[in-house]
Amino acid sequence: MNVIKCRAAVAWEPTAPLMMEEIEVAPPQEGEIRIKVVATGVCHTDLYHLFEGKDKRGFPTVLGHEGAGVVESVGPGVTDFKPGDKVIPLFLSQCGECKFCKCPKTNLCDRNWSSKYHDIMSDPTTRFTCRDQPILQFMGTSTFSEYTVINQIAVAKIDDDAPLERVCLLGCGISTGYGAAVNTAGVTPGSVCAVFGLGAVGLAAVMGCKNAGASRIFAVDINEQKFEKAKVFGATDFLNPKAYNKPISEVLAEMTNGGVDFSLECVGNTEVMRTALESCVKGWGVSVLVGWTDVKDFSARPIQLISGKTWKGSLFGGFKSKDSVPNLVCDYMNGKIKLDEFITHKMSLEQVNDAINLMKTGQCIRCILNISK
Ligand code: NAD
Ligand code: ZN
Repeated sequence: MNVIKCRAAVAWEPTAPLMMEEIEVAPPQEGEIRIKVVATGVCHTDLYHLFEGKDKRGFPTVLGHEGAGVVESVGPGVTDFKPGDKVIPLFLSQCGECKFCKCPKTNLCDRNWSSKYHDIMSDPTTRFTCRDQPILQFMGTSTFSEYTVINQIAVAKIDDDAPLERVCLLGCGISTGYGAAVNTAGVTPGSVCAVFGLGAVGLAAVMGCKNAGASRIFAVDINEQKFEKAKVFGATDFLNPKAYNKPISEVLAEMTNGGVDFSLECVGNTEVMRTALESCVKGWGVSVLVGWTDVKDFSARPIQLISGKTWKGSLFGGFKSKDSVPNLVCDYMNGKIKLDEFITHKMSLEQVNDAINLMKTGQCIRCILNISK
């Protein structure tokens, strides 16, 4: 099989703009799939790696982990995929064989990229080269490229009729927020919920609370422009913490006779994580961390947990990825979950820095980049 030369947006170093480059994409090796990427969303986790995480070992890299595409070719030993199949790359793999995959309690596959830094290839090399340098594959996916190579344990085959420029969102943000509410929090009918942070992840959490039958859903954000969308997904009350001269947890406690049943942190800020926990009712309140950060410790008073609250976290909404993503695609096609409403902008791969800037300045929910036809 041949090496493919194609366009990709390369992140050469932390905080610098991405550069459009011609890269070489090696043929898929044993157990791998080469994918023609059709569309991708831009998620805050891409920005986190570029601007907040700044781990130099993670560069140069091709970002992007919320994509959808078509199988171009498969490596030896791949029997479940063939050229032409529609697929969604998975930043969280499901090998089906490790002790975590075999346990119904978790979706944390042991062979995931995070256990090997920034690469999910079968050996610790990358399939990307640019200017004679190896380029890493962020989260094992790298969807800001016309072609990518991914291990078959991190690819979901989806319905032939699925619109790729929309279902790509199920590769990260929407599955994450939705699952955090319905799976990890386990939102119950009639309950009162609060979602902190109304980006795509938080809005998907609002949608999850609504689909699970919550009677009241507080949408909390410091950017009030997000409230209108939150209403579309089912939020009933809207709070801007900056508009009060006391902690928002106190405001919520007063409005709900003691606190909410379920709270979800979808910002990635350790202070907000604490606030979300403090906003829960004692005795049974459950607070879920969804926002991503690994640069700071969080803190809380032990009495928060001694009084019967539960604090937990959620990766990819608790969904076992390979099994669940095809079903979520069907849920979208059957009208059970929304996707179109998250898309506020559409751009080309060349405009990726504009898309990043839109998210950085809070002007978009999701911008979809059209990568190829
Ligand atoms: P986003 O930037 O679109 O949304 C974040 C929202 O939080 C914005 O609306 C912003 O105004 C709001 N916000 C900022 N500070 C706030 C504060 N102090 N109080 C209340 N709201 C505040 O991001 P996104 O793409 O929706 O991602 C949200 C978070 O989820 C990120 O941290 C991302 O890395 C993380 N994430 C986690 C997983 C996972 O599996 N756990 C997966 C995907 C994304
Ligand atoms: Zn993401």
